[in-house]
Amino acid sequence: MNTRKLLLLLVLAILVGVFFALDLGRFFSLDYFKSQQVAIEAYRAAQPALTAGIFLAVYVAVTGLSLPGAAIMTLVAGAIFGLLWGTIIVSFASTIGATLAFLVARFVLRDWVQGKFGDKLKAINAGIEKEGGFYLFTLRLIPIFPFFVINLVMGLTPIRTRTFYWVSQLGMLAGTLVYVNAGTQLARIDSLQGILSPGLLLSFVLLGLFPLIAKQIVAMVKARRVYAKWRKPKRFDRNLVVIGAGSAGLVTAYIAAAIKAKVTLIEKHRMGGDCLNTGCVPSKALIRSAKLLSHIQRSAEFGLRRTEAEFDFADVMERVQRVIRTVAPHDSVERYTGLGVDVVEGTAKITSPWTVEVTTAEATRTLTTRAIVIAAGARPFVPPIPGLAEVGCLTSDNIWNLRELPKRLVVLGGGPIGSELTQTFARLGSQVTQVEMAPRILMREDPEVSELVTQRFRAEGVTVLVNHQAKQFVVENGENVLIAEHDGQDLRVPFDAVLVAVGRVANTTDYGLEELGIPTTRARTVETNAYLQTLYPNIYAAGDVAGPFQFTHTAAHQAWYAAVNALFDPLRKFKADYSVIPWSTFVDPEVARVGLNEQEAKAQGIPHEVAVYGLDDLDRAIADGAAHGFVKVLTVPGKDKILGVTIVGEHAGDLLAEYVLAMRHGIGLNKILGTIHIYPTLAEANKYVAGVWKKAHAPAKLLAWVERFHTWRRG
Ligand SMILES: Cc1cc2nc3c(=O)[nH]c(=O)nc-3n(C[C@H](O)[C@H](O)[C@H](O)COP(=O)(O)OP(=O)(O)OC[C@H]3O[C@@H](n4cnc5c(N)ncnc54)[C@H](O)[C@@H]3O)c2cc1C
Repeated sequence: MNTRKLLLLLVLAILVGVFFALDLGRFFSLDYFKSQQVAIEAYRAAQPALTAGIFLAVYVAVTGLSLPGAAIMTLVAGAIFGLLWGTIIVSFASTIGATLAFLVARFVLRDWVQGKFGDKLKAINAGIEKEGGFYLFTLRLIPIFPFFVINLVMGLTPIRTRTFYWVSQLGMLAGTLVYVNAGTQLARIDSLQGILSPGLLLSFVLLGLFPLIAKQIVAMVKARRVYAKWRKPKRFDRNLVVIGAGSAGLVTAYIAAAIKAKVTLIEKHRMGGDCLNTGCVPSKALIRSAKLLSHIQRSAEFGLRRTEAEFDFADVMERVQRVIRTVAPHDSVERYTGLGVDVVEGTAKITSPWTVEVTTAEATRTLTTRAIVIAAGARPFVPPIPGLAEVGCLTSDNIWNLRELPKRLVVLGGGPIGSELTQTFARLGSQVTQVEMAPRILMREDPEVSELVTQRFRAEGVTVLVNHQAKQFVVENGENVLIAEHDGQDLRVPFDAVLVAVGRVANTTDYGLEELGIPTTRARTVETNAYLQTLYPNIYAAGDVAGPFQFTHTAAHQAWYAAVNALFDPLRKFKADYSVIPWSTFVDPEVARVGLNEQEAKAQGIPHEVAVYGLDDLDRAIADGAAHGFVKVLTVPGKDKILGVTIVGEHAGDLLAEYVLAMRHGIGLNKILGTIHIYPTLAEANKYVAGVWKKAHAPAKLLAWVERFHTWRRG
């Protein structure tokens, strides 16, 4: 830092130091003002210009030095100078002070502010980059960040000083007016009854309502800007068009029809989307067959001397298709048409915020609509690994077409889909090598969860390779080989088929998002706000295409918000609530979770206690030959409030429901402990873990007294 900057910094530091050392803050209180009100008003009457000048100078100094007191001074301005002059003086004083603070930050305090407010700076910088002065305007109008933080942080952005000045003055004007007006009322209070005067009450109501009104205004201005280049139809044929008939789209359309809106649902491929056709339903059907096989293999354990399973893989895969066909009517065109949804089998393309072009086998037509919900889902991500395209790969999209069991299967990916299919194919008889580049499979779960599942996989004959990165696929002597790197060494894995399950990527191209400029996130999902609105407030997104979760139940959960918000905004809209999201990975033993696990609590620095109950102790689990796994509950230290639960074991996903309900409705472990659970069931584990927690919190002193009481009673 050069000498001039240092000198300026020193002067500023001294001024701020003097302010706090002499406790000058006491002069910036309403009490102090009230005590001096008569004298100040007399001075103002005698010397109006000088009073205004002194007031302006003090206000500039306070805001320029980022000292506390500006809000009180604004109220006082109303009291001394009245609404008009008070507003004019404060408007200029606050803007000049803000600009001085801005300049100081720009030239001197850059490093300090960056260190202190780095996290806030990131968001503001991103906003400035995207929307320039308008972003500052919204910050001024709706004070999400404190006034002085905005001044200091703006100094670090590329915004021009002139722009900062006039946008600040304009943006703060409405707030200044509301505060100064409240000040004019404050001046009139001279008795307790005055506090309840209609004028003062109205002023405070205005003060409270101001941020809400400002928010609405900003939303309206923003909306006008994005819609400016589009021509809005005079009337709409329908209330809602839903793109995609997967979990999110079906539920959206269902809700819209149930509340009597005119809704069109467009599906270009198969009704039911991924969940029905290539996701949850086929995978769970296949898992069931594989589990039966695993039980047959364990038959001796259950006292059966000899059992034999003779099967054809193709029959198992045909059963999967039968299951899909049995479930399909739930998601069919007929069912939804019967519910009042106009279902169109065709490809949708958004051509304006209110029009969707749909191409069917017969024709292309344009639908006009008040709102649109994008529920276009996701697809498997296939990474650009050299040689992969040449050898060809299976994904969760096409694996269901297999009718011949691959003898040697490589599964890339240790996430839920990769792990479920790894175990399933191993149980069906494939020699499976699971390759994961992270240090363990199921990385989102706690280490002991991954450990338990890995142990089981290995016991069932799976080769689990963690810390292995798939580098290349080659064909050697007519045989497919994966080259995976581990600790700088290459490992060669020969295989017959490779399943790629390294993640799913949202469908965001080729249906109009690019043309409308609807942005996507870093995770490549459609960017939405908390109400699931995209850049265009009448276009919503739900399900895998919007993220952040990729489950059928979260897609359905979001669908409710998307449907209701799309149909009732601006009258009423709701923020999507992600506070209690459960999920399950259907490996054996099943892994189910809601809320925080231990690794997340530690990473986020959230204080917690852990209670664990081992299922090897549970009567029913022992009787069922399923005595493995645990229930692990995280609670707020010293309280029974649940922060999160992980269950590993038979039917973990079903067992978790009790905790999902408990967390959703604020029920603690004491209440679970006080609830009757049927004996002998797996669900008893939920009560027993509450017992573990209770034991750890037993009131030792009280129990010592109770012991004495019993001793005394024995005589
Ligand atoms: C193997 C596997 C197992 C899974 N297991 C589970 C599980 O056990 N539990 C769970 O909760 N989740 C599971 N999932 C995830 C679940 O399937 C998805 O989260 C869910 O299907 C997402 O629903 P969606 O409506 O967002 O998208 P999708 O179901 O993908 O539906 C999107 C639909 O939009 C259509 N579409 C796209 N663009 C257009 C267009 N321009 N015009 C018309 N139509 C269009 C597509 O054809 C598709 O039908 C699994 C996924 C996989 C792959």
